[in-house]
Amino acid sequence: MLMFKEISTNLKVVKDNIARAAHASNRSPNDITLIAVSKTHSSDAIRILLDEGHKTFGESRVQEAINKWTQLKADYSDVKLHFIGPLQTNKIRKVVEIFDVIQSVDRLKLAELLSKEMKNLGHFPECLIQVNIGEEVQKSGVSPQEADSFIDICTNKCNLPIRGVMCVPPVDVDPKPHFDLLREIAKRHRLSVISMGMSRDYETAIQCGATHVRVGSAIFGQRIM
Ligand SMILES: *Cc1c(COP(=O)(O)O)cnc(C)c1O
Repeated sequence: MLMFKEISTNLKVVKDNIARAAHASNRSPNDITLIAVSKTHSSDAIRILLDEGHKTFGESRVQEAINKWTQLKADYSDVKLHFIGPLQTNKIRKVVEIFDVIQSVDRLKLAELLSKEMKNLGHFPECLIQVNIGEEVQKSGVSPQEADSFIDICTNKCNLPIRGVMCVPPVDVDPKPHFDLLREIAKRHRLSVISMGMSRDYETAIQCGATHVRVGSAIFGQRIM
């Protein structure tokens, strides 16, 4: 568990690194959104960042997110909460209620139910398609080959507000070709959001065109759970 002072120092370091990586690729740091991934971390740790004006967060477990963010969203305005975990169909209603962006749309059944629930609730969180960019058996996401038709179906048949794509590349390999592939998929569909890059590789992701990076441990410290 990090001291609160370390968390705010880490935020500054990560922001500086993002700015440097952006400039190195002739991009504006303003075009890159830092999503602070707060899964497993306490509301008190999250409040450190909120008090400093950081408003964009990622969570991957629905119940945990509800437990923490019902109060946090009441206490702070303009929070943007991204759902970045695997989404079970029995949790869809809660996800649509509390999240502002859903990054893990990865199968037809889910897309259909999301569409239905959004209409019921009158709340339309932006959606990203998760691509299993390295085609790993243990990871969720549509395969890169299926991505084009799945994006079309989600947009035109399910009428979901699809804004972009996200991926988690395989560990222990150069992520660059995977990031390049995701950017190409986004480009083909004129999607503006490219969510890629985590603590270990967000600078490379920015070099490859990431518009959103999802950084957890580099800000909050190692997760124990
Ligand atoms: C946990 C998680 C992250 C953050 O990982 P770190 O390595 O701690 O930065 C990013 N994206 C997804 C999908 C995650 O599950």
